[in-house]
Amino acid sequence: MTEMTPARIADARDFARFFEPGGHLCLTTHVNPDGDGLGSEVGLAHLLRARGINVAITNPSPTPDRYHFLFRDLPGVDRSGEAVKELRRADRILVLDISDVGRLGMLSQTVGERGVPVACVDHHVSQGHLPDGPRYVDPDASATGELIFQLAKANGWELSAAAARALYVAILTDTGGFRFSNTRPAVLRTAASLLEVGLDPEQIYLDVYANAPEGRARLLAETLQTLVVEPDHGLAWVTVPPGALERFEATADDLDGIVEVPRSISGVRMALLFREIAAGRVKVSLRSVGSVDVADFARPFGGGGHTKASGLSLEGSMGRVQGQVLEAARLYLANGGHGSGGPPGNGQSR
Ligand code: 5GP
Ligand code: MN
Repeated sequence: MTEMTPARIADARDFARFFEPGGHLCLTTHVNPDGDGLGSEVGLAHLLRARGINVAITNPSPTPDRYHFLFRDLPGVDRSGEAVKELRRADRILVLDISDVGRLGMLSQTVGERGVPVACVDHHVSQGHLPDGPRYVDPDASATGELIFQLAKANGWELSAAAARALYVAILTDTGGFRFSNTRPAVLRTAASLLEVGLDPEQIYLDVYANAPEGRARLLAETLQTLVVEPDHGLAWVTVPPGALERFEATADDLDGIVEVPRSISGVRMALLFREIAAGRVKVSLRSVGSVDVADFARPFGGGGHTKASGLSLEGSMGRVQGQVLEAARLYLANGGHGSGGPPGNGQSR
């Protein structure tokens, strides 16, 4: 899609009726928010503020350090520390970058039972459940930030440099720096429009990727030591050593990108990263190459995401979860790498 279709423009204008002045609007996104969730929230917060609409950002997990720069021009807007209190005051809620209330972590219940309209802007292929409200979703969009850009464009909202920068971060991070399969012509055109507002792409790169604590590099080194490759199956995986995050004073955000290393090995079709997120609970990040559909693979385990990037979490010890997931992965790959329902979906996101 190079231009928005008239139907899409109409959808975007319809959706924008959700943003009436007055009242208390909360924006939220998935646990362990990433550049797309946060960039979309911050970009939208700027766009709405310029129209006299104030928002509170209320996320289930704290903002990772690398994205703090996005909030410099928005003092007081990140209310994630008091998210439940803020959400209880909200008369409207907008969920970004997920379509499933279950991915809101500790806020799932509050949002699920709040009884106010819950709107959604999202690009995931996996379906989920949310309370009723308007939707602006497109699994073919590269990033939620691209959908926020569309809302701005269709409604004639002017982009300030701060809004453009936040949306550029959303797109940059969700396309893996314009490398993944969702790097479509439309998203590069969007990125070009954002740069034309007057952004410094090198400075944004430095802020997001080259401002890391030493622990991130050491965590990467230690985690990569655990690499296992099964060339016959096209499988490769790494495991975060127990206690490593604490030892390196790192957070889940510091693991971002590590799974790209097993994925980069020639012949690998599915790459996994295992990490214990709580005693007896293991999270698995999945990435695929070619036609392998990891959103479909994750579904029976209660996970989901995109065709080429998904996640799931399971109860059990590390050994047990690894055994279960890897055995299923070998079988899945042996059976072609996508669901029984035919070829993989066309939402080749990420
Ligand atoms: P990551 O592995 O980077 O945490 O997540 C990759 C993709 O999978 C993201 O689009 C994310 O939303 C999705 N994802 C990660 N973990 C889960 C999960 O536990 N459940 C579902 N439904 N999606 C997940
Ligand atoms: Mn996204």
